[in-house]
Amino acid sequence: MKAHRTLLIKLPRDKCDVNYIRRLMALANLAYRGYEVWVPDVPRTIQHQLYGFRDFKDSLVFGTTPKRWFAETWIPLKTLRIYADGARRGATDALVILDLRNNVIKLRQVCKSEPKYIVEVPMPGWVVERVGEGGDVRFTMIGLRGEEPYLALVAEREVEPYQPSGYRLVVDVNSWRYGIAWGLVKNGKLITWRTESPGTFLINTLYHQAVDRERKAGKLRRLGYGGTTVVNRVRKQAFTRRSRIYRITRDKAYFLASKLVRKALRYGALLVIDDMIEESRRELLEEKLPPDVVKLLMSNLRRFVHQLETLAQWYGVPHEFKRLPSTVCPVCQHELTQLPGRTMACKNCGFKAPRDLVPMLGTEGI
Ligand SMILES: [Zn+2]
Repeated sequence: MKAHRTLLIKLPRDKCDVNYIRRLMALANLAYRGYEVWVPDVPRTIQHQLYGFRDFKDSLVFGTTPKRWFAETWIPLKTLRIYADGARRGATDALVILDLRNNVIKLRQVCKSEPKYIVEVPMPGWVVERVGEGGDVRFTMIGLRGEEPYLALVAEREVEPYQPSGYRLVVDVNSWRYGIAWGLVKNGKLITWRTESPGTFLINTLYHQAVDRERKAGKLRRLGYGGTTVVNRVRKQAFTRRSRIYRITRDKAYFLASKLVRKALRYGALLVIDDMIEESRRELLEEKLPPDVVKLLMSNLRRFVHQLETLAQWYGVPHEFKRLPSTVCPVCQHELTQLPGRTMACKNCGFKAPRDLVPMLGTEGI
């Protein structure tokens, strides 16, 4: 099985011709659709490479499938790798050179339509780590995000998932409100478990500060101060606080995904992911929470699930997505009733457990 991981690096804007990259993206879009257009003002080498990739157009090389005309298509580029011991892999006419000896990435002609135009960027530690794990950066892509030029490095690795040892690592993804719950289970016994969420106190504080400032800005605007430096400053303060919350949940998502995959590796566990994101969103909306609060409580959870899956694939952790019931008794299958404080209880056999743990206790026999 081939596993992939991608890293985006920002290219120096002053050394890149954004219009030229946009033009290359348009050509890549045409190539993706099966057209072959040769234009005079783009170096032949680049056009040859672009059409050379045509056979792979349904693969990752072209990134995600553009859904409509003029959708942004990144340009796939052949990549030459020069390893620390001097060994070389990849095409010699490659326009991207990953030089692991000197820790530098060289881009030829892809940033500007000028012969021998070279942009050098420092080698990210990420590449060194992936190569150390047996990965290979066989190709890269260049493209724009908004107006900013980026290089996407795609690492590839051949990996077979291991045979699970009998441990299961169950991850219950709902919302940041109650956190992401995980439990390590063996023979129906919960060995360790935890609910993880970013510091809710800090998030609460930041959220209320943001709302306060937004109210203040609205008030000032109504008083006729719209567009003045005072209002702009207050609005900017509100914006910074909201983006800080977003960053906190994003960092937590990445940190947790890596922590859980490492834990699964350590125990040789089968990773079971219970993705409840949509149900949780509905639940939060039913509680009549303001939509922007719901949005914050759900932010970066998709990213978390995606990262968890990507890392599991990369490290060969066997994993499956499974809906795990939290309303059925794991002992006698009777329906559970929810008591205050998110405790679930069975009227039939007297089983009682915190709601987040029920799905984990019921995973035997999957
Ligand atoms: Zn029961």
